[in-house]
Amino acid sequence: MKLPYAEPFRIKMVEEIRQSTKEEREEWLKKANFNLFNLKSSQVFIDLLTDSGTGAMSDQQWGAMMTGDESYAGSRSFDKLHETVQNITGYQYLLPTHQGRAAENVLFSVLVKDGDIVPGNSHFDTTKGHIEIRKAHAVDCTIDEAFDIENPHPFKGNIDLQKLENVYKRYPKEKIPFCLITITCNSSGGQPVSLENMKAVKELSDRYGIPIYFDSARFAENAYFIKMREKGQENRTIKEIAKEAFSYGVGMTMSSKKDGLVNIGGFIALNDAEIFKKASNFTIIFEGFITYGGMAGRDMAALAVGLNEATEFEYLESRISQVEYLGNKLIEFGIPVQKPIGGHAVFIDALGFLPDVPREEYPAQTLANEIYKEAGIRTVEIGTLLADRDPETRENRYPKLELVRLAIPRRTYTNNHMDYIAVAIKNVYDRRDEIKKGYNIVWESEILRHFTVELEKA
Ligand SMILES: *Cc1c(COP(=O)(O)O)cnc(C)c1O
Repeated sequence: MKLPYAEPFRIKMVEEIRQSTKEEREEWLKKANFNLFNLKSSQVFIDLLTDSGTGAMSDQQWGAMMTGDESYAGSRSFDKLHETVQNITGYQYLLPTHQGRAAENVLFSVLVKDGDIVPGNSHFDTTKGHIEIRKAHAVDCTIDEAFDIENPHPFKGNIDLQKLENVYKRYPKEKIPFCLITITCNSSGGQPVSLENMKAVKELSDRYGIPIYFDSARFAENAYFIKMREKGQENRTIKEIAKEAFSYGVGMTMSSKKDGLVNIGGFIALNDAEIFKKASNFTIIFEGFITYGGMAGRDMAALAVGLNEATEFEYLESRISQVEYLGNKLIEFGIPVQKPIGGHAVFIDALGFLPDVPREEYPAQTLANEIYKEAGIRTVEIGTLLADRDPETRENRYPKLELVRLAIPRRTYTNNHMDYIAVAIKNVYDRRDEIKKGYNIVWESEILRHFTVELEKA
């Protein structure tokens, strides 16, 4: 018999989490203006809000924390991180930042101007925010298969070359500072991009003189999918695959809170000396001196170790298999989820789950709130609230999919937790016919409203 996978770690420290009653949760949710971001963590039993910065560090990482060098300039921990990033990405220059969006802020301050067009595969919300705040536009060129949740396409993060070429033909080169490939594609469901697609995007972009940057928060999970799904890649290491992927671009932004396996941090890595110099100035203004950029020396030390751990096959196998385990349980219960299951999260199709809740009453937010009330599980809406209003017309933008994301923190929960989650969601599914009303907005901010929006029952 083939042995099943098992976690390549054992647990050395535990953190207590507590159950609550349904009555308590109803009260807390009301006080939170029906926005799960406003809950206290003590009001949550299993927290699937995000996989960002919520993972567990290893003993090796904690050990590295103790030897972090806190020098303002020229820290040893920076050198260690720099060497690690060079080894993994092949990019020469490194600018640490306090997290991924800060890397976007610094890099886009150099590259993105008023009226620019930034094509890519479903830009992440903060990425889009940093493009739109500069009065530029993000154009989504993801393949159509990504928006059909039943389509089992192995690389639903891929860019549609025709859509991309249309952008290149429509706008002059000076208006397109770069094409952004997000690996894995968070906004389309943690879906991977194939090496073949990256290569084709590079060839096409080269013809039009457009450089490629990566939004690489989950580059290691992307490499794992390439190894498992792409022909000819099965015998390569994760590190080899990741390096080839990065070779198709000229630079990257990183949220280290994902595949860096740390609780805070980010960075920019790139090859162009000129852009590096300009970005260094913005790093100093926004983040801190260029050898720490908003990170403590100890955090850079832990990140250097984390990047190496996150690019090991055994770790990735247990991580992604756990997400798949939860997804398959939900599929067994007949719950509509995006297929194939993504790398960091399971996405529930709220329109299929709650067909009676009108689109204007935010069905995905409604479902997320029901799951919380049912069992104290916090998830997040990836739907109309997240999509914000059109910056010009101020109308709601209705995305093709209305999803609830169950993001799984790295090395944090066991499969018993996955079983608990699956049963809780089944219980909501069994009473779905009683859920016909959603929520109305009482207050919202102009951009990235989902973090702070206040709602009332419709
Ligand atoms: C999380 C994330 C970011 C932003 O990073 P933060 O560390 O949260 O600021 C950008 N892009 C993608 C794809 C992400 O998943």
